[in-house]
Amino acid sequence: MKKNSTLDGIFESYLSNEKIFKNRNVLRPSYVPEKLPHRGDQIKRVGVILASTLKGGIPSNVLCYGKTGTGKTAVVKYVLKHLSEKSRELSIKEPIIGYINCGIVDTNYRVLAQLNKSIGIDVPFTGLPTDEIYRRFVEGLEKRGSLMIIVLDEIDMLVKKSGDSVLYDLTRINSTLENAKVSLIGISNDLKFKEYLDPRVLSSLGEEEIVFPPYTASELKDILSERAKEAFQDATLGPGVINLCAALAAREHGDARRALDLLRVAGELAERENAEKVTEEHVRKAKSQIESDIVTETLKKLPLQSKLVLYAIFVLTKQKGSNIITGEVYSTYIDMCQDLNIEPVTQRRVSDLINELDMLGVINSSVISKGRYGRSKKIKLTVPKKIVWDILEEDYRLKKLSKYVSNNKE
Ligand code: ADP
Ligand code: MG
Repeated sequence: MKKNSTLDGIFESYLSNEKIFKNRNVLRPSYVPEKLPHRGDQIKRVGVILASTLKGGIPSNVLCYGKTGTGKTAVVKYVLKHLSEKSRELSIKEPIIGYINCGIVDTNYRVLAQLNKSIGIDVPFTGLPTDEIYRRFVEGLEKRGSLMIIVLDEIDMLVKKSGDSVLYDLTRINSTLENAKVSLIGISNDLKFKEYLDPRVLSSLGEEEIVFPPYTASELKDILSERAKEAFQDATLGPGVINLCAALAAREHGDARRALDLLRVAGELAERENAEKVTEEHVRKAKSQIESDIVTETLKKLPLQSKLVLYAIFVLTKQKGSNIITGEVYSTYIDMCQDLNIEPVTQRRVSDLINELDMLGVINSSVISKGRYGRSKKIKLTVPKKIVWDILEEDYRLKKLSKYVSNNKE
């Protein structure tokens, strides 16, 4: 194939350009750093609980709470890694670790299948009754005769999607096991998820509770500085870059993941421009890029009915700007349902969907006094029309609706 000289140049300069990063992987979410500043208390508490395994004890179950990016996953993995190292050093039988990300493995069946897999038992991904794979797990674990520490990360997602039946089984499993034992570590991003749990599950799972508060701007600064030393070439970070990333992420509920993303994306932008240094300007650009990526992801995942409501709001916005009220949204929505041959939901339900879009930050709605349509709301799109349109246009189920916009495209 003939070389494309422009592209080849881009590839070559990309390959040789190590001006900015030393090791960008250090800024990725999956990287577990050697030090976790400002999490000493949480590390100690998890450590004290798990230490009992070193004398053959069964640790209490633990529930860790905190918003996203407050270091929950990092702390738990960090302590488990050190526990395994210590066990090896002392020649003690290491506990089996079963780590499950319930954000991905989010049904009771798949959790059990994954647990089987962590003890070396293959079960099919579907098909068996849940009781049967649970039974195989118990039997397999009994044969191994070990303590198993099961980490259920993002446990709130599992409970919301599939209920708490597998948790019920797991919190009772020790009464069935003779040679083996199980300890549970639950990690939740949602502080309210306890309300969804059966009280018996809650009292067992929450024997110990550890709270992860949001990081302050100055804590985020320390975290970023540590990482930046490994991730960037010397002296490539302009003055104020770390402070700005920390300040922006602190506003975003003290999220270390967001802070690291800002720093990484800012570095990538600087690299792409062939700049000598990462500047505050790069951080600001990184912020808007990350935000628009998040909005795009959120919109993509909306269920069909919500997308239809958004479509109606989008069309009305194009027609008349920001003076949109719920009644109009509903009637446009009804027209669209007819066009697509879809059963419409009630006006009340549409109202709920509008509230959900508001909570996701896609629209802004405020109650206006009683008008022609009764108690009504004024609605305004808060994300750029272009982003919304890209998502709506991409959904093949909504293709027929493009006639609502085609005659007045911007
Ligand atoms: P959570 O599980 O609470 O959502 P994570 O543990 O995944 O948060 O942390 C998000 C990112 O921030 C990860 O890359 C993690 O390594 C990093 N991080 C969080 N807390 C710290 C800390 N105290 N020191 C260094 N890095 C941290
Ligand atoms: Mg996590």
